[in-house]
Amino acid sequence: MAKGLPKRSEDYSQWYNELVKKADLAEHSSVRGCMVIKPYGFSIWEKMQAALDKMFKDTGHSNAYFPLFVPKNLFEAEEKNAEGFAKECAVVTHYRLKNDPDNKGKLIVDPEAKLEEELVVRPTSEAVIWSTYKNWIQSYRDLPLLINQWANVVRWEMRTRLFLRTAEFLWQEGHTAHSSKAEAVAETKQMLEVYADFAERFMALPVVKGVKSESERFAGAEDTYCIEALMQDGKALQAGTSHFLGQNFAKAFDVKFAGKDGKEEYVWGTSWGVSTRLMGALIMAHSDDEGLVIPPKLAPIQTVIVPIFKGEEQLNQISEVAQKLKTELQADDISVKFDDRDTSSPGWKFAEYELKGVPVRVAIGPRDLENGTVEIARRDTKEKKVIPLSEAAQHIKNLMTEIQENIYKRALDFRTDNTTEVDSYAEFKKVLDEKAGFVMAHWDGTPETEEKIKEETKATIRCIPLDFKEEEGKCIYSGNPSKGKVMFARAY
Ligand code: AMP
Repeated sequence: MAKGLPKRSEDYSQWYNELVKKADLAEHSSVRGCMVIKPYGFSIWEKMQAALDKMFKDTGHSNAYFPLFVPKNLFEAEEKNAEGFAKECAVVTHYRLKNDPDNKGKLIVDPEAKLEEELVVRPTSEAVIWSTYKNWIQSYRDLPLLINQWANVVRWEMRTRLFLRTAEFLWQEGHTAHSSKAEAVAETKQMLEVYADFAERFMALPVVKGVKSESERFAGAEDTYCIEALMQDGKALQAGTSHFLGQNFAKAFDVKFAGKDGKEEYVWGTSWGVSTRLMGALIMAHSDDEGLVIPPKLAPIQTVIVPIFKGEEQLNQISEVAQKLKTELQADDISVKFDDRDTSSPGWKFAEYELKGVPVRVAIGPRDLENGTVEIARRDTKEKKVIPLSEAAQHIKNLMTEIQENIYKRALDFRTDNTTEVDSYAEFKKVLDEKAGFVMAHWDGTPETEEKIKEETKATIRCIPLDFKEEEGKCIYSGNPSKGKVMFARAY
């Protein structure tokens, strides 16, 4: 058991906070709500980025970069978007500091360096990007425009949490422009599929794909699609969003194109994003009381080799075997660390790599040298096996696939066990209090009912699942007719 990590069953929230810090993923910074992502945490994020970036490029997108600052007049142009984000914007008003005449060694904002036009630190980049697209798009030949940006954004969140909700976060934001509604809708759905595929194949995280209700929709979008994941404490987490923007931003920024027939029309748009919140999802979905459980596809170190030795001579003998195994594994693209430090004991190292979620641990001791074996332990099930050295590389290679699949299956089983269909409000509240998880219930489709349910139970409509089954029923709250069950949950 890792030193001082609280048990999930006792204090899930504390377990998460401690785990993020103890596993060296991130820490709080001196700026409220902003975090420092440490090298180990960042290396997982880099693996996520690499996989996603490839998926974006495989679907025809290119990366570009736009400014951090949005002049206030541009920010205001799409009214709904501006209104939606106004409450959480950081704004630059001055561009210079000066020495404080009354307080030596201190600096104050120079009142003479006030900006004529205030600058909003981007909470999202639609405004900057669509004001640029106006210059890039004239005719149907300029479309589609398929662009992604990797960036940081700032949303002045009041209640923050490492990775899950920070004031500054890293993300990617795709912004595409199209000549028809159908094409833009298809793009929105395609990127939702890309996110779901990434979550399931790389993060080993099953997700529900759906559409947000009107009140949860992205400000300025016509439709917001999302992927929703279930965490081990039964709370939901929005893991990614893909928005169909209609012609809203094109109209706000006057972005028109001439069609084949010469007629001018406003451009259709989409935007889509996932953030460092995915790190939180990864941790909360799979990890246990001993530490992180990282799916092999995202693990910075996939296999660690720990020598068990007394004295230099034994270490040299073990090193020879370990180095050979390491080379063999690396040839199969498996990342390996051989931890031959003599400054900490094998037991300490075992606990450390368990905490860090390294999928496979190989231990080699003097007896293994004699017998031509190694001991292989997998992180997900904690199962240990003694294997002939000659079979070790193949065994580990197979484990990479097996562990990835097992972690996914475990999360999927958990979700299945924690998805409940209910038919009354009493049952709804009982499930939320006793079990939580995803709760499928009839809803009359009105924002008023949704708001009342949220006020009374803290549960929100996570989404109307894409595989929504049409079924006549009565809203659990109002008793009014409903066309099918939607997915509720308490959420992060
Ligand atoms: P949105 O632009 O609001 O659709 O958000 C895009 C992505 O960023 C979604 O996957 C959100 O879950 C995520 N996200 C939103 N706010 C935050 C935040 N404060 N910290 C981390 N991720 C966030």
